[in-house]
Amino acid sequence: MNMRPQTLTAASEAPAYRDTSYWLETCQDDLTPRAQLKGQVTVDVAILGGGFSGLWTAYYLLRDNPGLQVAILEKDVCGYGASGRNGGWCSSRYPLDAGTLAKRYGVEIGHKTLQAMYDAVEEVGRVCQQEGFDAEYRQTGILSLARGKAQVPAIQAAHRAYERLGFGEQNRLLGAEEASEKVRATQVEGALHSPRSATVHPAKLVRGLAHAVERLGGVIYEQSSVTAFEPGATPRLHTDNGVLIARKAIVAAGEAYLTQQPRYRRTLLPMSSLIVLTQPLSPAQWASIGWADGEGLGSQVNMVDYFTKTTDGRILYGSRGAPYHMHSNMDQPWDAATAKTMRETLVEWFPALDGIAFTHSWAGYLGVSRDWTPTISFDPQSKVGQLFGYTGRGVSTTNISARILAGMITGKPTGLEFLPSVGNRSPQWEPEPARWLGVRYVQDGFARMDAAAKAGDPAPLDAPLVRQLSKQ
Ligand SMILES: Cc1cc2nc3c(=O)[nH]c(=O)nc-3n(C[C@H](O)[C@H](O)[C@H](O)COP(=O)(O)OP(=O)(O)OC[C@H]3O[C@@H](n4cnc5c(N)ncnc54)[C@H](O)[C@@H]3O)c2cc1C
Repeated sequence: MNMRPQTLTAASEAPAYRDTSYWLETCQDDLTPRAQLKGQVTVDVAILGGGFSGLWTAYYLLRDNPGLQVAILEKDVCGYGASGRNGGWCSSRYPLDAGTLAKRYGVEIGHKTLQAMYDAVEEVGRVCQQEGFDAEYRQTGILSLARGKAQVPAIQAAHRAYERLGFGEQNRLLGAEEASEKVRATQVEGALHSPRSATVHPAKLVRGLAHAVERLGGVIYEQSSVTAFEPGATPRLHTDNGVLIARKAIVAAGEAYLTQQPRYRRTLLPMSSLIVLTQPLSPAQWASIGWADGEGLGSQVNMVDYFTKTTDGRILYGSRGAPYHMHSNMDQPWDAATAKTMRETLVEWFPALDGIAFTHSWAGYLGVSRDWTPTISFDPQSKVGQLFGYTGRGVSTTNISARILAGMITGKPTGLEFLPSVGNRSPQWEPEPARWLGVRYVQDGFARMDAAAKAGDPAPLDAPLVRQLSKQ
């Protein structure tokens, strides 16, 4: 089944939301949209977006400030965006790699940031437990493989960066033999093993959070698209049928979709990301692959690859590669050619799976900031709070970002305000058509570099330029 995203209009069409991703299909929650916003409503904090960012923000605002009035406007249903479509890695990796963190912000901030990320991974599991919902949270760890000798320097460099930041022991280098004992993929030359990460069923997490927010008194309006975002002394969010006025803050928690609002057009870039999913593997197939601990698996390719083992015994494989469209158009996240290559690549990793059926595939958008650094900010003058720009590493980062933002809005610092995201102002993306030309050039360059590495050929002549243009 190719699960293409679509926008729905009537509650009777609710089952189609289930077709958005395997996760929403199997989340065991009723996806009938909640009531729409109608008329004028006043609350303390009004949030745009019912994904992890919006829901975590609402959760911490309400949990730590009983009596506060918080409402969320979601254009479809909670979890319809990236939060209900992702790879399920609740990763301890901050959107900037350890090496870049150290270089750009210094060893002390780098160390504290990584520590905060480890804590965020645990906090996600803790909230699931405290709130009594099962998001299939499993502390599986991550195994970053070097596939082919050319990828070995990348895991060695990453390990050196972790050592520099004081986390060398938490991120262990494995040789080819030890890595292959963990997972029998082809071409394994080594791995970086990071045990302190988890995997989740993202739709169970996002839908569980929505119910937790409601239990704490929050109100969620669904199928309520914000058409205007109005800062000011009494800021407000407008929809076609109503207006949500806020006493304290309006919050932009729409990640990639924010690019469709005039205010955020060049703040982020919507990057499509694809996922293909196999049927459940047989016990014999699992025996041939190993991968008993179900770590998040990936390698060092430029186009990004990640594998997740689902609790019902399937393999989820995610990668990027769908072309960026001019003016950040978000109508075409799907790319059949990329999906075909992905299905073939999965079998290259695991030849024993030749002929396996792929039951689901879908795409979603992640928000990429110009410097790969997320933003968390609150301006008391305009009363605008913002959190976005996770560049594909948002499952855990949204949690920490929301905790900090909730504290900023209510004047209760969390002690985490050292995070590079706090008050960050990423440079704007270039105006079109320069943005389109640059992004497509880098996407094409990455594909050519990966193809050359796979074939054992020298890197393309323009590889240094591509690397420079795509530098974090
Ligand atoms: C295919 C894919 C795989 C990924 N894999 C991983 C992974 O394994 N690990 C990881 O850490 N991260 C991953 N990510 C990234 C991660 O999913 C995101 O960073 C995270 O979900 C962002 O949460 P969010 O709430 O900020 O955004 P979203 O989940 O996108 O939520 C934004 C919400 O705002 C709503 N909205 C938008 N515009 C409006 C409007 N005008 N009015 C009202 N509502 C609006 C949308 O419908 C949406 O529900 C992946 C992303 C994708 C797409």
